[in-house]
Amino acid sequence: MSISEMQKKIMKISGLSKQGLWFPHSSEKMTGIDVAQEVKDIQSFIGIRKAIEKGVVGEEYFSKLADKVIDSDKLNRARGALIGAAIGDALGTTIEFTQPGSFTPVTDITGGGPFNLKAGEWTDDCSMMLCLAHSLVRRKSFDLKDQIELYIKWWKDGAFSVTAECFDIGVTVQSALENYLSTGNPESGPTDEYSAGNGSLMRLAPVPIRYISDFAEAVEYSGKSSLTTHGAIEAIDACRYFGGLLWGALNGASKDELLNGIYDPTGTYWTKNPPCTSIKKLLEEKSYKTKNSNEVRGSGYVIHTLEAVLWAFSNSSSFEEGLLKVVNLGEDADTTGCIYGQLAGAFYGERKVPIRWVDKVKFNHMFYLKAQELLDCSET
Ligand SMILES: [Mg+2]
Repeated sequence: MSISEMQKKIMKISGLSKQGLWFPHSSEKMTGIDVAQEVKDIQSFIGIRKAIEKGVVGEEYFSKLADKVIDSDKLNRARGALIGAAIGDALGTTIEFTQPGSFTPVTDITGGGPFNLKAGEWTDDCSMMLCLAHSLVRRKSFDLKDQIELYIKWWKDGAFSVTAECFDIGVTVQSALENYLSTGNPESGPTDEYSAGNGSLMRLAPVPIRYISDFAEAVEYSGKSSLTTHGAIEAIDACRYFGGLLWGALNGASKDELLNGIYDPTGTYWTKNPPCTSIKKLLEEKSYKTKNSNEVRGSGYVIHTLEAVLWAFSNSSSFEEGLLKVVNLGEDADTTGCIYGQLAGAFYGERKVPIRWVDKVKFNHMFYLKAQELLDCSET
């Protein structure tokens, strides 16, 4: 990058920062700007996790942190969902758009891939997820217009993108955002069945975190969150179903409870509000439980994605094992990784997510901050 390009980028980031659409400072070096206490607390927390991993200190060291920083079960799971998404995205981008079997399986976060990213940088999935989280927090309510305005800020100005540029945008998302700019209608997602991609599912976790105390609300708002960019029934219902599943994982449900048909702690929600046929079939037949890797696909079609994520989650016993299974299906690897990461992160909790991967994620503190802020909103 030339000096003038660098200056332009700094100006851009400073503009985004002033609007609250950039990552909070995490270092006083160079800038001289104070690091917020919440960020310092998160850094201390991550630092202790690293020291425990190295065997330098024991678990009791966490007691040096304020109660709020140490993980309540809900905070642990909410952090897991968001940092899990970032890890899956960063790990999968290396083999994004590859055909199954055409690459050496990934085992670590190394960057590269179609956007030539540095190790730990993540893509559109997490930029859009942070936009959605930011809207839920700043509006303190569910506001589709505000959500789509933030997606536009990401697309046009690079808000919440690791590079301060939108370097990848899905076809369906872009056409929806263009549609919004000409009509002003935030429910701009195309509705035809061939547009049922996974682009609204990939950003979903903030919704069930925000509505963690009410299953039906979490499911309803999860479905609505699709409408800005994906109006096809399969995309909406994939979000409704997966929002409910994430809700269960965030609330500590067991794997058996989560994967026994269609997860429903109320016992009546899905009978009253059934999902579309393809999702119903996927969940009732449960064939994902016994399939081999060559029988599932990591394509961008939302039903494929759902099946791949459920397959990896049900056929593994750790965050790491399932994530490597799902990204190594290739194709839309960053997105299947991101969606698996949300579910497994919520289910196992942040403390079971490998710290060496947390440590590699660019702007990792942002995912911890948003988890806390969304939970704070859920209590008001
Ligand atoms: Mg992506």
